[in-house]
Amino acid sequence: MISCDYCGSGKVVKKGFRHNASGKKQKYFCHECERWFVPDDGFKRMRYDPEVIVRAIHQFSDGFSLGKVKNHLHQHDSTSVSRWAIRTWIVKYEHLLKKNSRSAARQRLRGKSISMKKEST
Ligand SMILES: [Zn+2]
Repeated sequence: MISCDYCGSGKVVKKGFRHNASGKKQKYFCHECERWFVPDDGFKRMRYDPEVIVRAIHQFSDGFSLGKVKNHLHQHDSTSVSRWAIRTWIVKYEHLLKKNSRSAARQRLRGKSISMKKEST
């Protein structure tokens, strides 16, 4: 039986598919925490809390710099990550964002990869 990736609840329903390079994956919706998830999405192998990752990606797409996201993670989640790791999350998990945020994140990332070397923090 499938249980929610986020809260572990069994109150989940199959709802549509997500398409990506590797084909289509069954999507689920959790009625307990009202979130979407795809079982075994790769998060289970991550060292970090998926919630932390998703929030970091959102912050970046909302205009936070990688450095600011990093500081926020450190202060609020006691999570130490490099700006490079955050960048990797954005690339890897941008599909979790809504369409608008996703293109914003992509655009900002494109500029970032050029200017990153110049930054000192
Ligand atoms: Zn849930």
